[in-house]
Amino acid sequence: MEHKLPELDYAHEALEPAISRNTIAYHYGKHHQTYATNLNRLIQSTEFENADLETIVMKSSGGIFNNAAQVWNHSFYFTSFSPEGKHAPEGALAEAINSEWGSFEKFKEEFEKAAVTLFGSGWAWLVADKDGKLKIMQTQNAGCPLTEGMKPLMTMDVWEHAYYLDYQNRRADYIKNLWNILDWGVIESRYQL
Ligand code: MN
Repeated sequence: MEHKLPELDYAHEALEPAISRNTIAYHYGKHHQTYATNLNRLIQSTEFENADLETIVMKSSGGIFNNAAQVWNHSFYFTSFSPEGKHAPEGALAEAINSEWGSFEKFKEEFEKAAVTLFGSGWAWLVADKDGKLKIMQTQNAGCPLTEGMKPLMTMDVWEHAYYLDYQNRRADYIKNLWNILDWGVIESRYQL
């Protein structure tokens, strides 16, 4: 089956100044698209030819895994944002964050630490384990929490291509600004599933 990028339900300039139209054009339009194009080419005539994306992420390795996981991770990332989203969690997710970290502010501090200190290319994640316990995770390169039995709730892409056009080397500033566009309504609905 052909793997495609999700349509974005915001305009390409709608996330400015946190993420510019130019970064959406390259990061979504070129990087994300290239992972999907590569994946569609690599799975031809393999056991993954008709598999859904999550199955490929769970069962593949090498180049197929790298491209499949990057398609999954980027689709998850780009569908977490809204120019008019909810700026903080409520309900069960808010309670779970408070019981794990004490407060939403403290959680944000710990998450930022994980995102800033990740060496090289990768992703920082808020995940729930099989018992529903929340954790902050780092994955290198295309790493995806699904392969470790975790349910991803939120992520920040910290590959340089995610921020270099807007922030050059200032990864910490990029991370701080992402809090302004993350939609906690979306994140809450992932937690409830
Ligand atoms: Mn990326």
